[in-house]
Amino acid sequence: MSKAETILERLEMVRKTGSSKWIARCPAHDDGTPSLSVTEIEGGNRVLIHCHGGCGALDVLESIGLDWSALYQTTKTDTAHCIGLIKTKKPLTT
Ligand SMILES: [Zn+2]
Repeated sequence: MSKAETILERLEMVRKTGSSKWIARCPAHDDGTPSLSVTEIEGGNRVLIHCHGGCGALDVLESIGLDWSALYQTTKTDTAHCIGLIKTKKPLTT
């Protein structure tokens, strides 16, 4: 199963809008009309999600029980970097 399929199967009102593009109901806000775009890039190795209602990508992912790894293959460094952008940085303990 591709990364996009993993995400799309958890979304509602999914509609294909292009060769590697879909639109679906955003799970992170009360979305009356589908406003979450899902785009597959790099031959399916990466997926971009964008809520036109303004939800953050991580909010959307957490609403469907996923995290950044659903969008693209991450190394530990990449994941830490992404989370660092969202959450308050913890002070170094070492
Ligand atoms: Zn949204």
